[in-house]
Amino acid sequence: MSETTIGLVTGANKGIGFEIAAQLGALGWTVVVGARDTGRRETAVEKLRAAGIDAVSVPLDVTDQDSVSAAAAAIDRGFGRLDVLVNNAGIIGGTPQAPSTVDLATVHRAVDTNVYGVIRVTNAMLPLLRRSSAPRIVNMSSSVGSFAEQLDPGGPLAGMPASAAYVPSKAFLNAVTVQYAKELRDTGVLVNAGCPGYCATDLNNYTGFRTPAQGAVIAVRLATLPADGPSGGFFNDEGVVPW
Ligand code: NAP
Repeated sequence: MSETTIGLVTGANKGIGFEIAAQLGALGWTVVVGARDTGRRETAVEKLRAAGIDAVSVPLDVTDQDSVSAAAAAIDRGFGRLDVLVNNAGIIGGTPQAPSTVDLATVHRAVDTNVYGVIRVTNAMLPLLRRSSAPRIVNMSSSVGSFAEQLDPGGPLAGMPASAAYVPSKAFLNAVTVQYAKELRDTGVLVNAGCPGYCATDLNNYTGFRTPAQGAVIAVRLATLPADGPSGGFFNDEGVVPW
C-alpha cells in the first residue's frame, strides 16, 4: 500500500474544491479529483499535474449511487485505502428560494447534492477510510446554515434573503456531520464541517470577497488534524462557528 497520504476531493474541478486539491497536493499528497464532467475533470487534473501535484482523475457524480460506488471501487483498486475525504461538491439548487414561493424540486436538488450526496459518498468511502491510520472527513458547509448566525439581527447574514433550499441544506449537513462524528467516536475517524467564507466562485456568480484559495484553507486544516483533534465541530478560519 502507498505510504503517501491519499485524499479525495469531491467537486474538485473548479472553485474551492480545485484549490483544496491544489493545497493538499502541495503537501505531497496524492489527490483524487472527483468530478462529474469529463472535460472539466481532465482539465483540472492536467493543471494540477503541471503544478507538480500527483493528481488522479476519478469520475464522480455525488447524486448517482452507481457513480459513487464505482469511484470507491476505483480508489480501492488504485490505493487500497483512503486517508481523507473532503465532501466539497455543492450547489445552490436554483431559484426562487424564498420559503413562500420555492419549488420543491429546488429543495430536493439542493438536499440531494449537499446532504444525500455527502451521505452517499461518505458511506461508500468509509470502508476505505477505516483502513487509514489517520482518517479524516471534511464536510464543506457554510455559516449560512448556522441558526445562530441566521438569527443574529446585527450579524453579517441579517440582510441575506430567506432560503428554503440551500440554507437549510447546509444546516442539515451540519446535523449529519455531528451524527457521523457521534457514530465514529472511538474509531479514529475525525469528522468536521468547515465554512470557507464568502468566496468568489461560479456558485455565487463571483460576488464573494474571498478567493477560492482562501476558502480552501479551512478544509486543509480539518484534513490535517492531529489524532487528538476535534470531531463533530464546525469551524472557519477564525475558529468555531456557532450552530
Ligand atoms: P463552485 O465553484 O460552483 O463548485 C462546486 C463544485 O461542486 C463543482 O466542481 C461542481 O461540479 C461540483 N458539483 C456540483 N454538483 C455535483 C455533483 N452532483 N457531483 C459531483 N460534483 C458536483 O462552488 P464553490 O463555491 O467552490 O463551492 C464549494 C463548496 O463550498 C460547496 O459545498 C459550497 O456550498 C461551499 N461554500 C461556498 C461558499 C462560497 O462563497 N463560494 C461559501 C460557503 C460554502 P461541476 O463543475 O460539474 O458543476
